[in-house]
Amino acid sequence: MTQLTFTTERSSNLVSDIEREQILSDPGFGTTFTDHMVTATWTAEHGWHDAVVREFGPLQLSPAAAVLHYAQEIFEGMKAYRHEDGSVWTFRPEANAARMARSARRLALPELSEEDFIASLTALVQADEKWVPAYGTGETSLYLRPFMFASEAFLGVRPAREVTYSVIASPAGAYFKGGLKPVSLWVSQDYARAGDGGTGAAKCGGNYASSMAGQIEGADHGCDQAVFLDSATHTYIEELGGMNLFFVMKDGRLRTPALTGSILEGITRDSILTLAKDLDLEPVQERIEIQEWKDGVVSGEITEIFACGTAAVVTPVGELRWDGGSAPSGSPEGGGEVTRAIRSTLLDIQYGRATDTRGWMTRLV
Ligand SMILES: *Cc1c(COP(=O)(O)O)cnc(C)c1O
Repeated sequence: MTQLTFTTERSSNLVSDIEREQILSDPGFGTTFTDHMVTATWTAEHGWHDAVVREFGPLQLSPAAAVLHYAQEIFEGMKAYRHEDGSVWTFRPEANAARMARSARRLALPELSEEDFIASLTALVQADEKWVPAYGTGETSLYLRPFMFASEAFLGVRPAREVTYSVIASPAGAYFKGGLKPVSLWVSQDYARAGDGGTGAAKCGGNYASSMAGQIEGADHGCDQAVFLDSATHTYIEELGGMNLFFVMKDGRLRTPALTGSILEGITRDSILTLAKDLDLEPVQERIEIQEWKDGVVSGEITEIFACGTAAVVTPVGELRWDGGSAPSGSPEGGGEVTRAIRSTLLDIQYGRATDTRGWMTRLV
């Protein structure tokens, strides 16, 4: 595959040091962006080219761009972490590169090589290094959002012959301020986020669009998020709109729904399955019925439930509600012991406080 060279055109319109420090002192999530962004173009004729780091700003797009009509789009989500010595690292970028390539194949978009993917992150974080929050400021990081979409101006239905790849970055604060509060979940019975043969295993915007009606229904019932079931039988637990689920069992098993083709294979999920043995847990991937959840939290068979993903890392899950009933919280207030141990094990690796025995960290700056 081609090896792209990312040219950096430094912005002449940088956010001032004072303003940036102010933003970094309370960054929130996904609202402010750094000075630069990456863009690269792919055409059927020339492949990938024009890879640049340039000033962050609006993209020029024809109203006929295929993505706006047929949703040919994929994305990734990862973080850059500042370590105590000032260096900046990211977590398992090879896994994100591989997943983006799988998503690209499913959405009929061109693949970007692992080298080019990682080079794009390195180039952006080097240009915007000052935007990576200081070590020791809580769980702050620079959230990285690589994405790719059909930019060809054409209304015919076929894979686009012009595609844009971009990376933007946004400083992120601790997802949970004031401790880990368990999230309440609504069982989405009528809306599925994905189905057999669909795009559930690809990280694409369309899956998020289809999850929102279920999220709204959940919010209307006082819940923080929705949990989606398999679309064929409405029996088996799949995942949340953007996070995978785990169940801690009284007997030491750590269960998560098996990948069915309609569940997104989270890198946090995979990392937790790998780390389980270190924490004396037996990782199990299998189909899990929603009824087992309802029964398990009552019988005490399930001792903790948590959701996981890059943005929130590990989130304790509280009450489950559905049309006509509810089950008690799957987690003690503040999250259970196992939930907290898994959370801190991951964070210690990501922030360089624990030895990275598996080679999961890649240095960016
Ligand atoms: C991104 C995503 C996750 C979490 O994946 P991570 O790689 O752990 O961040 C889970 N479910 C869905 C639907 C997602 O899009």
